[in-house]
Amino acid sequence: MRRLFYILLLLYIQILFSQENSPNIILMIGDGMGLSQITTGMYANGNKTSLERFDYIGLSKTHSLDYLVTDSAASGTAMASGVKTLNRTVGIDENNNKQKSILEICKEKNYNVGLVVTSEIVHATPACFYANVPSRYDYEDIALQLSEHNVDLFVGGGEKFFNKRKDKRNLLDEMTSYTFVDDFEEFKGSSSKKIGFLTYPGEPPPKNLGRKPSLDMLTEVSLRKLSKDKSFFIMIEGSQIDWGGHDNSLSYILSEFKEFDLAIAKALEFAKADGNTLVIVTADHETGGMALSGGNVKRSRVKADFTSESHSGSMVPVFSYGPYSELFKGIYENTAIFDKMLSAVMSKD
Ligand code: MG
Ligand code: ZN
Repeated sequence: MRRLFYILLLLYIQILFSQENSPNIILMIGDGMGLSQITTGMYANGNKTSLERFDYIGLSKTHSLDYLVTDSAASGTAMASGVKTLNRTVGIDENNNKQKSILEICKEKNYNVGLVVTSEIVHATPACFYANVPSRYDYEDIALQLSEHNVDLFVGGGEKFFNKRKDKRNLLDEMTSYTFVDDFEEFKGSSSKKIGFLTYPGEPPPKNLGRKPSLDMLTEVSLRKLSKDKSFFIMIEGSQIDWGGHDNSLSYILSEFKEFDLAIAKALEFAKADGNTLVIVTADHETGGMALSGGNVKRSRVKADFTSESHSGSMVPVFSYGPYSELFKGIYENTAIFDKMLSAVMSKD
């Protein structure tokens, strides 16, 4: 009887202790990934997607401050910092005030923080989490801001913005607290506390032209690294779903979505095993005004039509899994994604 009491007491303490940590957050952004991109991707992959395994689904209104149709900078800023701002603007509001991002708030709370993308690491979406610039195209300035930041792990293209600069500085040499790795094996093997993996000198190529390493492998390894000693925040972007949309190329979109879907599966696998990880998958906007216009379910064949070579203004879905995932049901502004993540992070204060 007494023994049972102690066992129960121990279990209770263990449960208390396990709930003490603020949740990990995995925010996954499919750039340009509207419902048509998801639906064509699903049918093309044998009528299945990892997104079917999520607990809650919501819809996000993506308009920016000055346009109904947003760009990735304004929408990235909305999700990263909770403010509606002007198109092209990264991490600042319309009055030029710098905004703190969820990544930075997590860092202040002693989280490990990371960014893994399939575009350049200085591209608009990731930049919104660490930079504050009036124009998303100030790539060298954005790189400089990353070099002065304290992101623990980052993966993406765009090395030239660090070491082939107009000001002749070599930021890679200046970032002395970082280990820079050259390939996936090195990335996997490194036990460095701060790690940068610049995958290409400029823009990484599309997946169907051989981009490496794959986003799902990067996701798996990055989650293992960041979760080693404390809570973490990571933003993982399927950046080029958008580029396929701009090209009105169905095959480009399908191959990018397929890889992103595999990365989502890795995130879910981690979250399931961990038990204290919130996974959110959404988009910054839809690209291409795409419609699924036909196909064959049994043969995994799809046809699509496009109404634009730019973005569209349709709401985009938000999928959530894990602790606090219920916060993400319903219809809300894209800025609310920040608010909801913030309340999850602040929940144990
Ligand atoms: Mg992007
Ligand atoms: Zn775009």
